[in-house]
Amino acid sequence: MKQCPTCKATYKGQNICHRCKSDFTPLLVIEKEASYCLEKAKSLIKECKYDKALDEINKSFFLLKTQEAAALKTYVLAQQGEFEKVFSILETNQIQVAPHLNVDANKN
Ligand SMILES: [Zn+2]
Repeated sequence: MKQCPTCKATYKGQNICHRCKSDFTPLLVIEKEASYCLEKAKSLIKECKYDKALDEINKSFFLLKTQEAAALKTYVLAQQGEFEKVFSILETNQIQVAPHLNVDANKN
C-alpha cells in the first residue's frame, strides 16, 4: 500500500492514516496473506510443483492484484505449455513490462 485508499495521503507505515484516521489493519492483513501465498508459490516453483504453485498464485492474485503475481502466473502457465492463457494475461495488461520504458506512441 502506497497511499490511503480513503484520502490518498502517503502511507507512512502505521496501521491508521495520519490524516483521515482510516484503519488499515484489514488491508495490511490481506497484503501479508497475498505476500505469503506468493512466497509459498516461489518455493513450489523451485520444486517444479507447478499445479500447486498456480493455486497459491491464484490465491494471492485474488487477494491482491500485483505485477509480481501476474508475472509468476505467466511463468508457471508457460512451463505448463498453456500459451493461450499467457497471451490472454499479456493482452489484458495484467503485466506491464518495464513501465518506465513505455514510450508514448503518439509522440513524434
Ligand atoms: Zn487517509
